[in-house]
Amino acid sequence: MSKNTELTCIVCPLGCKLSVLQGEDDSIIEISGHSCKRGLSYAQTECINPERVITTTVRIRGGQMPLVSVKTDKPIPKTLMMKCMKIINRIEVMVPVKVGDTILENILETGANLVATGNAT
Ligand code: SF4
Repeated sequence: MSKNTELTCIVCPLGCKLSVLQGEDDSIIEISGHSCKRGLSYAQTECINPERVITTTVRIRGGQMPLVSVKTDKPIPKTLMMKCMKIINRIEVMVPVKVGDTILENILETGANLVATGNAT
């Protein structure tokens, strides 16, 4: 039995309403509602292997503040998010930290790096 999934594309502010028809084996039969190829790609990824950017904080050692904000520099598979958060929660970095500093490379071999989005001194 096929299933139909309704999504809102989050790639750009237009927020096109997407409709994805999938077969019993989850293969994609048809995608509609997209206005560009980026929306098509988003719908495929979201239905087959959804990804998200992690935005969180890591602990700071020796700084004025206890935490600094970080994010992954590209989306990672949603299925790895909990595992990534366990690793990130164990990280503690020494000051100084500058925006754009790499905190952790190639997290869980996803190709994504964890980078600072704030400064810490
Ligand atoms: S389908 Fe294209 S135009 Fe529509 S929201 Fe997605 S990226 Fe924007």
